[in-house]
Amino acid sequence: MYAWQFPVYAYVLIPAALLACILAALAWPRRSAPGGTAFVLLMIATAVWELFRVLEAAAIETSAKVYWARFEYFGIATVPVLWFLFTRQFSRRDRTSPGLGPAWLWILPAVTLALVFSNAQHGWFWSEIKPASAEPGTHLIYSHGPAFWITALFNYLLILLGTVALLDASMRGEGVDRRQAIALLAGAGVTWIANMAYLGGLAPVAGLDPTPFTFTLTGAIYAYTLYRYRLFERVPVSRHALLESLAEGVLVLDNNLRIADINTAAIRLLGLSAASCLGGDAPALLASWPQLRQYCANEGEAQGEVQIIGRHLDVRAVSLSERGRKHQGRLLVLRDISKHRLAEDQLREANARLQAHMAEIEALQGKLQEQATRDSLTGLFNRRYLEETLQREIAQALRSGGPLGIVMIDIDHFKELNDAYGHRAGDTALQALGQLLAANTRSSDVACRYGGEEFVLALPGATLEAARERAEHLRRAVEAMRVPYGGATLSLTICAGIAAYPTHGGRADEVLDQADQALYQAKNGGRNRCIVFAAGAMLPAAAPGVRPAA
Ligand code: GH3
Ligand code: MG
Ligand code: MG
Repeated sequence: MYAWQFPVYAYVLIPAALLACILAALAWPRRSAPGGTAFVLLMIATAVWELFRVLEAAAIETSAKVYWARFEYFGIATVPVLWFLFTRQFSRRDRTSPGLGPAWLWILPAVTLALVFSNAQHGWFWSEIKPASAEPGTHLIYSHGPAFWITALFNYLLILLGTVALLDASMRGEGVDRRQAIALLAGAGVTWIANMAYLGGLAPVAGLDPTPFTFTLTGAIYAYTLYRYRLFERVPVSRHALLESLAEGVLVLDNNLRIADINTAAIRLLGLSAASCLGGDAPALLASWPQLRQYCANEGEAQGEVQIIGRHLDVRAVSLSERGRKHQGRLLVLRDISKHRLAEDQLREANARLQAHMAEIEALQGKLQEQATRDSLTGLFNRRYLEETLQREIAQALRSGGPLGIVMIDIDHFKELNDAYGHRAGDTALQALGQLLAANTRSSDVACRYGGEEFVLALPGATLEAARERAEHLRRAVEAMRVPYGGATLSLTICAGIAAYPTHGGRADEVLDQADQALYQAKNGGRNRCIVFAAGAMLPAAAPGVRPAA
């Protein structure tokens, strides 16, 4: 049975070991983050180191101390490899070897352990072990053999490589990354300085390795890092993965317009081959699309649309600058907007079709309107139109104070013409009369087929006298008109009754009614004549052929 005695410093080592265990437990749920697993094992390795260091310290006899010291190497020998793995993975140096890294990395700890446990046989690792003083239980002073120095060399190399990776990450990194890296470096730095001081013979207590003691401080710094900077929580996505995840094509050109980076989306959009792209000369690769090429060369920001392989691409280009240096290269972002363009084109087409349709409808509507207001046989206005217009015209005349003449016309003995030549001949005669009336009216006049073989002329601005003159003129024109029909020649005469606003009334129907009465009088007077309405006495129109009503 060995005797035990705890030196004071053992009480420093125990909390340090506990802290390392707690840190391992805290990091355990985040072990899948880069460097997470290595960190957990690193903490466990330091705990192992410290706990066996406590046992070494507590043992009184030299042989017992050496016995426990060997077990410390389960920690000591693995710490450099785990540190190497942790720092490389954490700083994203090693994407390829997650977890515990390649097997050959573990040859060094295995050899070290084998040397340590077989030291009694060869003494290559520890050449001499002796107590620091005569005092029982005092710490041992280890003299190191060649095997120790060789393994130490490799271990320091691993530690150095890991530290460089972390230093590099702290230089490159931004924000939290940078502060994480600095804190991790600070924590580890304390330990490595202590260890090197020991090996260099500069330990505060001669021969006593201070390294495990520093783990308390390192552990505290790491605990702070874990919480303050959320170590392992914020997983910075690699920029490459970020670019690849974009639906937009991204093209990065260096200062010489060579393709420094290109994502799969851009390769696909531009129909390039992945192999030929990287490092290729952008203007040469994009030679087929001069429109796109111009975005490579220009400086500053540019945006526009280009058509490539049947696709519409929205192109945005910006000049890149780093750390204040100007024009380091160019970034092109390509977005496929073919679908938008297609939708736009379809919309435009639909719109054009709709407009053509509308125009057609409008034309039809106009035609209908025309048909609704026109008489189909003669092309003159119909009675409905006249009635509507007359209301408007009288209102207008009322406003302007001007006169409005009305001439009502009826063909004489039209029944006889129908009887003699047939209804078709009658229609032809009606059409001829329609043309004559149309030819003898002004744009402001309204010539209308009132019904059957009766016609009305509304003459805005025409006084009674002017209307009478117009009627008389027409009567003579009709009398002179000859309408060829078949082998025959048709001729007509008309009677006209004339009235005017405001002379004969203030309302449209009154004036019309009085023109009708005058027409009736003209018929009675023997036909082929024009009569001006006169209340009581029927005034004959003064012109030849216009006889007073009988
Ligand atoms: P008057 O007016 O001189 O007294 O004699 P009229 O023969 O013209 O007499 P009335 O006004 O009574 O006869 C009108 C005739 O006009 C009757 C009808 O056959 C004819 N008529 C009416 N509308 C049309 C038409 O659209 N086409 C043809 N061909 N004849 C029509
Ligand atoms: Mg009639
Ligand atoms: Mg008639």
